[in-house]
Amino acid sequence: MDYTALANLLFPDITKTIADYEAQYPPRDLPGGAVVTRIAPSPTGFVHLGNLYNAIGERLAHQSGGVFYLRIEDTDQKREVEGAVEAVIDAMTFYGVRFDEGVTKDGETGAYGPYRQRQRRELYQTVAKSLVLRGLAYPCFCTEDDLNAMHAAQEAAKENYGYYGKYAVWRDRTVEEIQAELQKGTEWVLRFHSEGDPEHMIPVLDGIRGELKVQENYTDFVLLKSDGIPTYHFAHVCDDHFMRTTHVIRDESWLATLPIHVQLFDTLGWRRPVYCHTATLMKMDGSSKRKLSKRKDPELALSYYREAGYPQEATWLYLLTVLNSNFEEWHLANPDADSREFRFSLEKMSTSGSLFDLEKLDNIAKEYLSRQTADFVYDGLLDWAKEYDAGLAARMAQRPDFFKAAIGVGRGGEKPRKDYGCWRDAAAFLSFYDAETFTFTDACPERADGAQRAEILTRYLDTLRFADTQEEWFAKVKQITEELGYAAQPKKYKKNPELYKGSIVDVTNLLRVALTGRQNAPDIWEISHVLGEEETRRRLTAYMA
Ligand code: GLU
Repeated sequence: MDYTALANLLFPDITKTIADYEAQYPPRDLPGGAVVTRIAPSPTGFVHLGNLYNAIGERLAHQSGGVFYLRIEDTDQKREVEGAVEAVIDAMTFYGVRFDEGVTKDGETGAYGPYRQRQRRELYQTVAKSLVLRGLAYPCFCTEDDLNAMHAAQEAAKENYGYYGKYAVWRDRTVEEIQAELQKGTEWVLRFHSEGDPEHMIPVLDGIRGELKVQENYTDFVLLKSDGIPTYHFAHVCDDHFMRTTHVIRDESWLATLPIHVQLFDTLGWRRPVYCHTATLMKMDGSSKRKLSKRKDPELALSYYREAGYPQEATWLYLLTVLNSNFEEWHLANPDADSREFRFSLEKMSTSGSLFDLEKLDNIAKEYLSRQTADFVYDGLLDWAKEYDAGLAARMAQRPDFFKAAIGVGRGGEKPRKDYGCWRDAAAFLSFYDAETFTFTDACPERADGAQRAEILTRYLDTLRFADTQEEWFAKVKQITEELGYAAQPKKYKKNPELYKGSIVDVTNLLRVALTGRQNAPDIWEISHVLGEEETRRRLTAYMA
């Protein structure tokens, strides 16, 4: 077979060689041990949690003096959605992920581009041509129907699926046969000519999983599709080689095709990157574990967390807790340290289905927010509200001190309140402070209702002195409670319910509902001081009717 003739027949316009690209993209001049890594999302418009998860590579790169870049895998034009690249960049920027090079909103930066795969056609074709010249790639003119028939035959014979052995019908054709097809204008794909033996196991070092043994690839997989655009496999190998990537951090679903990638690196004589296959995100569905699904689980979309308003750092705290087995311990020892100070290590990453649990995220976020200052919470809530709740943003901007005081209730001290973990919940929780958004969620406690309701409220209003300290105030509440025939201690009431109308819990819950619309709310005295005397009296009086 005259490979030169075949190569020129298939790629008449390709005049460059691999050596030209080696010269154009020289090894990076970086300190020893520097990690060069990337995320390489497809511009489908769906930015998922996994993109942020794999962006952990940014920490590795920046903690080692390396480079983190953004590559866009736009080889599937049909799935491309307008604005998708901006969406990825926005999402990453929002979470503080900084790219050193790659695609930007208005173009790209860096010396290893282009960083959009469709613009790298010539490079892929140059590498493809070099493989044809070596007898390691050939065109295949099989139609969709031919491949389906092959699949059916393999199924019937209980043989492995794929294009190999006797099924690789275009593997050993002559240049003349190929030329005849080309002249007819038949569509073709370029396949790799695999010499692999399925009995061979190849060692591959995985940065997270340690040494893996993978079966050598024996199928003639596709390098270039019929439009001349590479498959993921081929593009990944060419790009990560010429962009001088040292670590490929990607989901474990790529383990299945790792043999192909390793084979390509080895065949081309290129140094393999350190593969780091991250554990797929799973969730509990009833009593069984399953993969998070785009269709069923809104929490797979990264936008979910931004819309709900989980603070960025809380989201990172959660993600790191799930990702790295030693993070939680570090965080407990350094509760106020920024998570970026944590030295991230690949070896400590989970290797099997990371269990994603929104309740745990919520708890981590509540804990995190409970330790922040009222000013911080006010600013975070306002930023969120500007995007998702314009009414709240306007009201906050009008009365910043009032909102800060409301946010400050139960904050500080040994046991700060943990009422909300995200801004949406904070908005709902704080809504009772503002008369404009006040609503009743709970009914009046039964034992304080009826004729008692007005009686208790009247007595309370009569004795209310706004200058009282919290202790003085509480002493008065107790006094009224007893005078009106309620037990000042819930215990006493429990023991002899026939002696009382109810207990102090009924009285204070009545006050809570009158002031906040809820039975479960922060301290009444503190709330009243945020509302001010006039509004406090107004709500209590209104609730008498
Ligand atoms: N587009 C691929 C993905 O999002 C990239 C995998 C990789 O990082 O190589 O899964």
